[in-house]
Amino acid sequence: MSESTARVAIVTGAARGIGAATALRLAADGFAVAVIDLDESSTAGTVQAIEAAGGRALGVGADVGDAEQVQAAVDRVAAELGPPVVLVNNAGVTRDNMLFKMTDADWDLVMHVHLRGSFLMARACQKYMVDAKWGRVVNLSSTSALGNRGQANYATAKAGLQGFTKTLAIELGKFGVTANAIAPGFIQTEMTKATAERIGRDWEEYVAERAAAIPVARAGVPEDIAHTVSFFVSEGAGFVSGQVVYVAGGPRT
Ligand code: NAP
Repeated sequence: MSESTARVAIVTGAARGIGAATALRLAADGFAVAVIDLDESSTAGTVQAIEAAGGRALGVGADVGDAEQVQAAVDRVAAELGPPVVLVNNAGVTRDNMLFKMTDADWDLVMHVHLRGSFLMARACQKYMVDAKWGRVVNLSSTSALGNRGQANYATAKAGLQGFTKTLAIELGKFGVTANAIAPGFIQTEMTKATAERIGRDWEEYVAERAAAIPVARAGVPEDIAHTVSFFVSEGAGFVSGQVVYVAGGPRT
């Protein structure tokens, strides 16, 4: 597909981890990719990797939970890359703590990024998808949506994203837009490294212990999730909408 006709995908939180792997995969699939993260300079690595592989990318700094920044970012993507018809809501944070120790700020930040962020991004992008009569939204949930000790905030947000996904599927389906969610299990990224550090665990040992409890007997890598995103945004997946796929090496690990 030539540069001028390539469909445009936005991946949030794409400076590293699952978002970076997803941005690279969608670029390899032929999309022009907007790499959004909090700080524009942090997107340079992903943008350069896409360009080095022959793809087209734009790095944009924005806090996905801030309405003005989101509108400015989506406007810029539309002006510089083209109308965004694929949105991957991947930006995320954790602020884990047991309920009795969880602060208002821990609760609010997690809702701000995951729920408000996904809402604002989807609202800003939907008009391009409706105009194009084609679109794909993929939201990053988590196995934590099923409940996870020390994650009352995160589990709530990730369960909320499943309801959000199903509602987008119902509202936008008639415009050729699908919405689906991916609920990853244990994936090796900076986010899970930070968890290991916080609980005082050696990273290699922690990964080995988690892998031992996973049916496919390994920990996940960002490319496992990128592959599933690639399926959901593909042309052939147009009849798959409102679904949640647990990508966890087993049913719920
Ligand atoms: P990660 O390595 O921590 O990357 C998350 C990225 O999101 C970071 O670059 C971060 O930027 C960015 N971000 C945070 N707040 C933002 C905001 N307000 N606006 C824009 N960008 C923001 O995380 P990951 O492990 O790749 O996780 C990606 C997604 O998968 C998240 O939604 C996560 O909840 C979900 N998930 C991960 C796992 C796992 O095991 N890793 C499992 C289930 C679900 P900064 O570095 O500047 O904060």
